[in-house]
Amino acid sequence: VANEKESMYLVSEFANKFLNHTLLETDEGKAIGLTYFKERGFTLEIIKKFSLGYSPNSWDAFTKEALGKGYKLEFLEKTGLTIVKEDKQFDRFKGRVMFPIQSMSGRVLGFGGRILTNDKKAAKYVNSPESEIYHKSKVLYGIYHAKQAIAKQDNCYLVEGYTDVIQFNQAGIENVVASSGTALTPDQIRLISRLTKNITVLFDGDAAGLRASIRGIDLILEAGVNVRVCAFPDGEDPDSFAKKTPYDKLVLFLEENAKDFIQFKASLLMKEAKNDPIKKADLIRDMVISISKIPDRIKREVYLQECSRIMDISEEVLFNTLAQLDKKEL
Ligand code: ATP
Ligand code: MN
Ligand code: MN
Ligand code: MN
Repeated sequence: VANEKESMYLVSEFANKFLNHTLLETDEGKAIGLTYFKERGFTLEIIKKFSLGYSPNSWDAFTKEALGKGYKLEFLEKTGLTIVKEDKQFDRFKGRVMFPIQSMSGRVLGFGGRILTNDKKAAKYVNSPESEIYHKSKVLYGIYHAKQAIAKQDNCYLVEGYTDVIQFNQAGIENVVASSGTALTPDQIRLISRLTKNITVLFDGDAAGLRASIRGIDLILEAGVNVRVCAFPDGEDPDSFAKKTPYDKLVLFLEENAKDFIQFKASLLMKEAKNDPIKKADLIRDMVISISKIPDRIKREVYLQECSRIMDISEEVLFNTLAQLDKKEL
């Protein structure tokens, strides 16, 4: 089994080289893939840093090349790079621009591939399937390039997508990783918490992003990690925002808008439930539930005080609610 995993790593590394080479050195790759990335504002330097790629618009160009080089079909299939149907072989990522997903130590575990058109019928991103080397719930896109900066800044920006990570790096902000479309998991948070106890959630400025941020908060708190949230303007994501914002303004925006989770939840209330007592009550309960996830007793107490002050409700009521929640969990 150890050999099997090693063979899967090797074929993934070969794919990474092939796809990167196709992007940078072939006519098709340059005309289609490189043009696409340049239009998104990616420099050659950042394309190389993240080893972006392009998969030829052919049914099996990659698979043929890999088999010709002696890689076994078994491992092409197990990594999902090749799809085998009725004895025919197909490249999974045909005609897509490619984002290799690396482990903390830099090994290629899998890929995300994006279509170049805005065809709403086709899946925008296709990812490698779960395999012995790629467990999507345990991986964070960008962690290999971010780990040093995360430790140094003692903070990690958490974004949704590949392009958010890349655009931030290009802007000079390197302590950033992406959950890549999966709901954030405890394993992913543990990966970050080895490097820092501070996470700033930067999800897309849309309904899905907001929902994901709210879900993320409690999980992060449960892991004993401090969480701040920075909302982006409607319709913007970290990629689109960073692309059009000069570095100084971007840093200022992040500093001014990253709110503590209590403040963030309170600001939701201001927007959605201003004069609605029922919504206000729901939100306060929701805040207390979040606070109840914090393992550290002193932090809990501080947050209860903060919640009491912001929401203008007695600390005693909040304290009792928290105590009830604790009991239920026993
Ligand atoms: P882009 O800017 O290229 O449109 P994005 O990162 O903004 O991409 P989102 O729609 O915000 O795309 O999705 C966030 C992340 O979720 C993506 O980067 C990708 O990892 C994942 N994702 C999105 N759509 C799909 C899909 N159809 N299948 C699998 N994963 C997806
Ligand atoms: Mn989104
Ligand atoms: Mn997005
Ligand atoms: Mn985007």
